[in-house]
Amino acid sequence: MLDIKWIRQNQATVQSIADQKGISVSISQLIEYDDKRRALLFQLERLRQDRNRLSQEIRELMRSNKREEAERSKQFVKKINQRLSTIEDEHKEVESQYHQLMLHVPNIVSPDTPIGVSDHDNVEIRRVGEPTTFAFEAKDHVTLGKLHQMIDIPRGVKTAGSRNYYLTGMGALLHRAVQQLAVDLLIQKGFTLLEVPLMVRTEALLNTAHFPLSQSQTFKIAEEDKWLVGTSEVPLVSYYEHEIVDLTEPIRLAAVSTCFRNEIGSAGKDVHGLYRLHQFSKVEQVILCEASLDTAEQLLQEITANAEKILSLLELPYRVMAVCTGDMSQKTYKQWDIETWMPSRQAYGETHSASNLLDFQARRSNIRYRNADGKTQFCYTLNNTAIASPRILIPLLENHQQEDGSIRIPQALQRYMQGLKYLKPGY
Ligand code: AMP
Repeated sequence: MLDIKWIRQNQATVQSIADQKGISVSISQLIEYDDKRRALLFQLERLRQDRNRLSQEIRELMRSNKREEAERSKQFVKKINQRLSTIEDEHKEVESQYHQLMLHVPNIVSPDTPIGVSDHDNVEIRRVGEPTTFAFEAKDHVTLGKLHQMIDIPRGVKTAGSRNYYLTGMGALLHRAVQQLAVDLLIQKGFTLLEVPLMVRTEALLNTAHFPLSQSQTFKIAEEDKWLVGTSEVPLVSYYEHEIVDLTEPIRLAAVSTCFRNEIGSAGKDVHGLYRLHQFSKVEQVILCEASLDTAEQLLQEITANAEKILSLLELPYRVMAVCTGDMSQKTYKQWDIETWMPSRQAYGETHSASNLLDFQARRSNIRYRNADGKTQFCYTLNNTAIASPRILIPLLENHQQEDGSIRIPQALQRYMQGLKYLKPGY
């Protein structure tokens, strides 16, 4: 959420950001509603003052036994009350329309964000490692998964429908191994690990700016005001909802969670294998920090470096992309994605997404801190994936496959894989 005062002063800028982010909201309509609610509020205050003054007068008239005059004033009060009730209803309606529009207003974007329409306009910042080449015919992760009895998509579909899977044996172990490697790294880097609720109230999703725009991506629990989270960013940020936090040091939080996504609008897209699923697991990094552009920029680099460290421990080639306006979400000020080389796609595929949101979420979630002057101020929030699995198993299996079908386990992962250096078919 942006400050309405700021929006009023920068209407053209905000409208153009909404257009660039592809968000349908009219800033001039928002201002009209803001004008209306202010005018109605002014009228309400005037009428309440008049009523208070008359009530005082009535008490005095009654005390002096001037009953007729008191009765006349009472009639006035009655009329004022009727008028108040009409304007209160009107104000409630206008306030609700205003609030709805405010929920659609996008965050501003950083000056170094590329302008563009879709992910095709994202800009590569750096590339680490080279796409893997093979002196033999390489297999894709689905074939490797079958060969090693690690990935069972047909049975996943049988049990749960499309975009579902089972991981079995070494597949399930690998899935847990990459997550534990990521958790251990984050703990080393000073993150506090939380176990978080995965069914959250509508308010938590609104406050973290996942709703209303991503509501269609979210699975609802029938007959309850609860939804399955698509990312633990929601419960991690909401942990501090309506609180004043101590930000002497940035607060670094991590969680491992299952994530549930409807993937509406992705029909027919990425239908093969483990790329786009309804359920996956993610180790997430969330940071709350003081409202300083410099600090937030450093922290964006820090959470990106953490993800890059994990990819380097997994010995995977990747590139870092500056995400363009059209590929950004409503809440994002600046975003870097990491894409990892996926041989079967002959392309880099997104595996991590780091965002700096400034105070957009904190304003909606009402999370504040005391600044150097002792005044309360909304904090900044940032988030990034540390690892998302099973998507990361695509590059892990495909890049490390050997000619005989075995899969090399990167050294840093071996301690989480019962010391195995290779996975051999038949394990
Ligand atoms: P996001 O929270 O949307 O920024 O996504 C973070 C990461 O989660 C992505 O970079 C992917 O690695 C993974 N991911 C997102 N959506 C899916 C999905 N539908 N299926 C599998 N992995 C996903």
